[in-house]
Amino acid sequence: MIAASILLASPSILIYGGLLVDGSGSAPREANVRIQGSRIVEIGALRRLPGETVIAAKGFVVCPGFIDAHSHALGGIEKEPTAISQLSQGITTAVAGQDGGWSQPVAKEFADILRIKPTINFAMFSGHGGLRAEVMGKDYKRVATTAEIERMKTLLAADMKAGALGLSSGLEYDPGYYSNTDEIVQLAKVARQGMYISHVRDEADKAMDAFQELSKIGKEGSLPAQISHIKLGSKAVWNKTSDVIKLIEKEHLTADVYPYTYWQSTIAALSPSRDWENDEIWVKALDDVGGAQNVRLSTYTPNPAWVGKTIAEIAQTTGRTPIKIIQEILLTTNEEGRQSVVVTAMQESDLVKFVRHPKIMFCSDGSIGGSHPRGAGTFPRILSKYVREQKVLTVQEAIRKMTSFPAQTFKLKNRGLLKKGYIADIVIFSLSKIADHATPSDSKALSTGVRDVFVNGVHTMSQGKLTGLRAGTPIFRDR
Ligand SMILES: [Zn+2]
Repeated sequence: MIAASILLASPSILIYGGLLVDGSGSAPREANVRIQGSRIVEIGALRRLPGETVIAAKGFVVCPGFIDAHSHALGGIEKEPTAISQLSQGITTAVAGQDGGWSQPVAKEFADILRIKPTINFAMFSGHGGLRAEVMGKDYKRVATTAEIERMKTLLAADMKAGALGLSSGLEYDPGYYSNTDEIVQLAKVARQGMYISHVRDEADKAMDAFQELSKIGKEGSLPAQISHIKLGSKAVWNKTSDVIKLIEKEHLTADVYPYTYWQSTIAALSPSRDWENDEIWVKALDDVGGAQNVRLSTYTPNPAWVGKTIAEIAQTTGRTPIKIIQEILLTTNEEGRQSVVVTAMQESDLVKFVRHPKIMFCSDGSIGGSHPRGAGTFPRILSKYVREQKVLTVQEAIRKMTSFPAQTFKLKNRGLLKKGYIADIVIFSLSKIADHATPSDSKALSTGVRDVFVNGVHTMSQGKLTGLRAGTPIFRDR
């Protein structure tokens, strides 16, 4: 009787006739899903209730909304609260605060999300690099003192209290680069109700050492640890996937991966050395990624004419060496100005093994309107290229890795499964049609094939178009 009175209280929606892939990894089955308010209230062979809205889903997959395990969408959400590039991929929750980024307390970030009211949900990590910058200011090119670490701990503890998922770091970037393992272990202990997630110190030659460091931080901090956007990004570590997977399995680590063999970052990320005037480091850096033709400048505020060109092309047109070009780019953007590069540095064979592994979830590592196609294409690319075409994964396993696996790892309560009582973050897509269209030269091209998206029970995308409704909320760590 209680259920019946709730049903009378607000109109329900019946998703009818679809192929249910519930997020648990179970085989697809035909079933109908009833949602009411923000919740899933029934699943099974259901009939339409009087007055009920029916969403016909025959021929479509019905599954939980995708959780983007490493997202930079928060940066652009104020300008673009529709998050169309995320929503059109089926992403309903973005996990932000990555790579050690932090510009204000997580409680304030959550307040901003409530004010902005985006289409998608956001969960947040507290970022080591930003905490470090807040405490150490410009004097960060050294290990933090005990007193400084104590101040970072205070800020981190407040973030954890506000519902942060844990501590993130970006040890290849300033100012996190200058920390040592012990500094992070001390902070990780404060985050142990949650987890540690890291863009590790080196994604190239010393990637194995960097993964070991992450494992040590997890162990000594007594918390789960996850490798962000896992990759083997230089010749020296190509084909070492089995070593990495052994470590992940032995140390109970998790990881996330994006389905592209090229990365995007600052040009300094080409080399772990900071000895930028030394030509030798760039000779090696370019050799490691297969040459200057594999490095494409995607942002460069001092000279927009260079944007979209490879370092090899710029060298040719200017009559200078690729190394001189890189050094000039660094020099002119170090203090002011921005630059970023897209670098083809990974092997498809390594990527496929990561995509397949059950402990590796998916991330876009993308932003809204970013210059890497992963920002608009990641999830449909997994489903089209690696599920439908190459059959690297079954659809139910791919969806488990997009939904319940991240939800459980990050402690996102009542999300990631199509289950009675769970929150109705739901995607309806065509497995035969889903496709990504973004490329390095057209990075913002939207994905297609996702027909309907419900976020917190609200019909946010219908027939592939925005409905104008926005129901995204902050998501707190389950306690
Ligand atoms: Zn990163």
